[in-house]
This record gives sequence, C-alpha cells and structure tokens, in this order.
Amino acid sequence: MTDRFAQWRAPAHWQAVDCISDLHLQAGEPATFEAWRTWLARPVSERADALLILGDLFEVWVGDDALQGDGPDAVFWRTCAQALRTHAQDTPTYFMAGNRDFLLGPAGLDACGMQALNDPTALDFAGQRWLFSHGDELCLADTDYQRFRTQVRDPAWQQAFLAQPLAQREGTARELRRQSEARKQASGNDPSLWADVDAAAARLWLRAADATTLVHGHTHRPAEHDLGDGMRRVVLSDWDLAAPAPRAEVLRISAKGLQRRPLKSA
Ligand code: MN
Repeated sequence: MTDRFAQWRAPAHWQAVDCISDLHLQAGEPATFEAWRTWLARPVSERADALLILGDLFEVWVGDDALQGDGPDAVFWRTCAQALRTHAQDTPTYFMAGNRDFLLGPAGLDACGMQALNDPTALDFAGQRWLFSHGDELCLADTDYQRFRTQVRDPAWQQAFLAQPLAQREGTARELRRQSEARKQASGNDPSLWADVDAAAARLWLRAADATTLVHGHTHRPAEHDLGDGMRRVVLSDWDLAAPAPRAEVLRISAKGLQRRPLKSA
C-alpha cells in the first residue's frame, strides 16, 4: 500500500499552491465556465506557483476523442483545453481524476497542458506533508458506488468502453447522470445526506502517507474536520455560479497555512 503514497517534493522556489475541484464544467453552464476562464487567465503575479485540480473539473468525460469534431460539446471541450493550456504555459497545472472525468487520458491531458496526479498523492511543501485525493474512494458507506467505482476503474472495462462509438458512450453517460440526479432528488437534493468520507479510512491514509492534512473534494461540503492526533481533513468547495447562492472558492496552501479564497479575491 505504501507505494500509493509515493512522496512528491515541491520545488524549493514554490511559495504557494492553489487547489480547486468539482467545477463540473459543461457546455450548458456558461456562468461557471466564464468565471473559471477569467480566473485562469489572471496575471501570473496573482497566481500561486502551481495549480492542483483534484477531480471533477469536467461534468463528464467519455474519452479523449470527445475533443474532435464540430459538435457544440467538442467545441466547448476544446475551449476548456485551450484555456488550461494557456494557463499551464506559465503555471504548472496538475490533474487528479474525479468520478466524472476519470477517462481523461494522455491525449486529453496533453491537449490541456496538464500533468497527471495519482489519487492519492502526498506532497512535501511548506514544511509539511499534505495528502491530496478526490475523495470518492473514501466514501465507504456508499457501497453501491464503491462497486461501480471498482468496475469502471478496471483497465479492461475502460478499454471495452472506449472501444464503443462516441455517440454510444455519450448515451451511457447521460443515462448514468440521469440515475445519479434521480438519487439526489430522492434524498431531497441535500448534500448532507449523501455519503461522506469515512473518518477512520482517512486516518489510515494519513498515517500510511505520514501526513497530517488530507485535502479533498467530491462531497461538495467545504469544511475542516478534526480527525484527532493532530490530523485533519479539509474539504474543497464545488463551483456553481448559476446556483441561487453562487459559490466558487480556491484553497491556497502556503507557509502561512491554509486560506480559503472566494473567487473574487482569489
Ligand atoms: Mn466527485
């Protein structure tokens, strides 16, 4: 298990690292996309030394060939890729897969100028070791989802899925999202009722990585939880600029510690 927590040491000149997750970018939600694109394009002097995207950047990803063609989705994905590539020319940009965009492959990463991060990844930075994850693997109480996750993360399953025509994969993804939305509606669309990260599993991961702080997304419940013995887990905010109470936030890590920066000041 220890190889899962292989150590990554930040370059000595890094002063700050920004973390975001759960933007769920999609052609049908221009407000979040525009806010994100404007934020990405801010002057280099206002940026951290690296950007870590901890999953669910995209609402759905059915294969890197989704970037090809003239359809509105393909044009949208290419616009996202272009914004990321331009950003990455000045700021190293790292991508960890979420449960929506785990099929982003080498060609897609390359189109976006991003470097892949394993889930989980431990980083030595600012005098501490940080552990990063999307977070879905730790939501152990949702046994249906964990079964699904095991299936779709299997290389043989992915190979068979990616061999299907693009339109068929898009149809499957639509059906899965419809089922997921139906489950959310059935639970009153209340994130506090959805499965959460298992505290004991989070502590095990932190001990295995010899880290004290776990930073993750996925649950859309931004908070800081004390895990005891000096350990904590810090949950990123999702982004939704079209919500009745719009939200978008960047977590900045520096020698000063953790800072939640609402989009306007980030
Ligand atoms: Mn997720």
